[in-house]
Amino acid sequence: MKFATKAIHVGQEPESAHGAVIPPIYMTSTYRQEAPGDDSEFSYTRANNPNFVALEKQLASLEDAKHATVFSSGLGTLTGLISMLSQGDHVVALDGVYGGTYRLFNSVFSRFGIEFITIPNASKENIEKALSTNPKWLFFETPTNPLLEVFDIEELAKAAKRHGVLTIVDNTFSSPYFQNPLKLGVDIVWHSTTKYIGGHSDIIGGVAMCNEDHFKKELDFARKAIGLNPSPFDTWLITRGVKTLALRMQQHEHNAIAVADFLEKHPLVKRVYYPGLTSHPSHAIAKKQMSGFGGMVSAEFNLSLEETKKLISSFKLFTLAESLGGVESLVSHPATMTHAAIPAIERKRIGITEGLVRFSVGIEDAEDLIHDLSEALKNIRR
Ligand code: PLP
Repeated sequence: MKFATKAIHVGQEPESAHGAVIPPIYMTSTYRQEAPGDDSEFSYTRANNPNFVALEKQLASLEDAKHATVFSSGLGTLTGLISMLSQGDHVVALDGVYGGTYRLFNSVFSRFGIEFITIPNASKENIEKALSTNPKWLFFETPTNPLLEVFDIEELAKAAKRHGVLTIVDNTFSSPYFQNPLKLGVDIVWHSTTKYIGGHSDIIGGVAMCNEDHFKKELDFARKAIGLNPSPFDTWLITRGVKTLALRMQQHEHNAIAVADFLEKHPLVKRVYYPGLTSHPSHAIAKKQMSGFGGMVSAEFNLSLEETKKLISSFKLFTLAESLGGVESLVSHPATMTHAAIPAIERKRIGITEGLVRFSVGIEDAEDLIHDLSEALKNIRR
């Protein structure tokens, strides 16, 4: 079965009691047991629920994974993953991960003796050096946020394997439609399903996927033991969203290419970051490992901080908001929003300037989106 078919049919068999084509929402906290100590699949919804299982089957099929475990959020998923580590362990990460990921490691789990070491420059030499310090994981996100740098997943997973290190990848920005890191040698892939997978900006959720049975067991245990479960209703909504993932991703990409092309030609734009542009430094790697370039575009405008703020507040269709991956277009200003906690000098070093703007390009009509950008830019210096 191909992606779009799996998205609609896997885990979505009509319900047996009444033949409902759409499986119901199992709004229950607990389940009747046949006998005391009955060890059936469902006993308490913190541990498991039929809606979790339906979504897990659906998502595992799309990521070509043997197993999936769904969680309350992307960061809930990461908490579940980190709970597999122990005091004294360290993780090596490539620069460019989501700010909340840094915060979870550095402000929470550092107090439990788990160290998170980021490598600012992912050269082969630096990675080899970092891997030889005996970390438990090599951890990265690709494309990165907000500069959309693409890392070579296969090469990195191979290097990690040589050192006996697990590779963990956040695949949120690509969605399983454009990139499948498990097929490239990664051990565990995870997503914030809040973004493209859910696709409608109306739920918070997460998922981790793997091929090893013992990881699945540990992740299910973490969900139950820590209380990282999603709600049955949210998982049902995510399942509904996933059915249109293929169509949505095609339109996100179509529109993102149009936006990136328009911005690249605009005189007020210094630089556009989009892996689909041949001018993007990671274009060749993106082409090798992704089947599409996604819906995220960043651009550095030749504008002052005040002008940039004015610009991003004046769009009619691009709503000023954090998050990404929904059907509606969003715009954000990394320097004052998602990356505000990073000192200004460090921000500048990594390329997050005051004129940098990130677009989550939605699935509206591309012409309307370009018109919105064009009108706002016309007015900016008047
Ligand atoms: N990973 C990425 C790439 C994200 O952008 C986010 C949130 O913005 C997360 C993980 C965290 O996900 P959640 O907000 O669902 O906890």
